Amino acid sequence: MPSSEKTLISRIRKLAGSGKRSIIKGIGDDSAILRPPAGHDLLVTTDFNLEGTHFRREWHPADSVGHRCLARGLSDIAAMCGEPIAALLSLALPADLPQKWVDDFLRGFLALANRFDVTLAGGDIAESRSGILADVMVIGSARKGKAIQRSTARVGDMIYATGTLGASAATLRTLFEAGKAPKRVRHNERLPHPYREAIGWENQKFQTKRVPHSERSEGWERHFYPEPRLAIGRYLREHRLATSMIDLSDGLSTDLAHICEESGVGATLNQNLIPIARNADLDLALHGGEDYELLFTARKSAKMPVEIAGIPVTEIGWITREKKLLITDCKSSPKKLKVRGWEHFKK
Ligand SMILES: [Mg+2]
Repeated sequence: MPSSEKTLISRIRKLAGSGKRSIIKGIGDDSAILRPPAGHDLLVTTDFNLEGTHFRREWHPADSVGHRCLARGLSDIAAMCGEPIAALLSLALPADLPQKWVDDFLRGFLALANRFDVTLAGGDIAESRSGILADVMVIGSARKGKAIQRSTARVGDMIYATGTLGASAATLRTLFEAGKAPKRVRHNERLPHPYREAIGWENQKFQTKRVPHSERSEGWERHFYPEPRLAIGRYLREHRLATSMIDLSDGLSTDLAHICEESGVGATLNQNLIPIARNADLDLALHGGEDYELLFTARKSAKMPVEIAGIPVTEIGWITREKKLLITDCKSSPKKLKVRGWEHFKK
């Protein structure tokens, strides 16, 4: 490991801070003590983030890896209409990993955590013999019985997606195409050629602060620094708009299939309405993953705003009784929608 376990833990403890009211005890005891707000259910989600599967050191700067692995969990909490409380981070690190990588990883992780008032309340550290592994658990809460599930879409509901789709997968595709002979960079602060050029990164250093979050919706930022849609989840909760919801982590076709399977319904998408990101195409918008937008259903009579928290909300289809997934261009008869989520790094 880059520094001793004890040093690393005290470093993380210092950076993590003491947190908010729901945290009775964070890092520093055998177990964290959390107290969810009265009358709330706990939401718990966990994700592996494996080098070579979920990120590549030659492509992803360390702070982006830290950001992404927390964003995945926060997005799951957003998809339940919940509020995040705490995160637990377990890291397995190779012995020869530079300390700078770990510092940058934590910087990315904690910057996102602070922005959403999430306390890093514990975790574990071990030495890895094969690549970096980060296991992130996020704990949140929702008013008792009010978490929005995948299983409650109803026949006749309309289907909505937030933001634009396919930008993350488009960036990944460009990286694959550019990288005939990927080479590892030492500190991962700069994305090496030819990748930087390929995605229009120019010669600039990774400076996430330069790009306001509202503008990070269409290009490589969506891949490297995805924004969990907690504000949209909150709005939908407060206005009781969503009947079912999932976050778009595996791709529209796959995630819509999850809603339909769990709800025992079918769906038809209008392909003309799907909000395709500028750098993507219909195929990537349908099947590319890691957009971390929200996919939800609402009653036909619901008064859905065209924008929530500055992010467009687009009606893209409807729920059907017949348990089939279809897509229509509104000219010819609807076709079967293939369920084909993006399998990252498998090429
Ligand atoms: Mg999810």
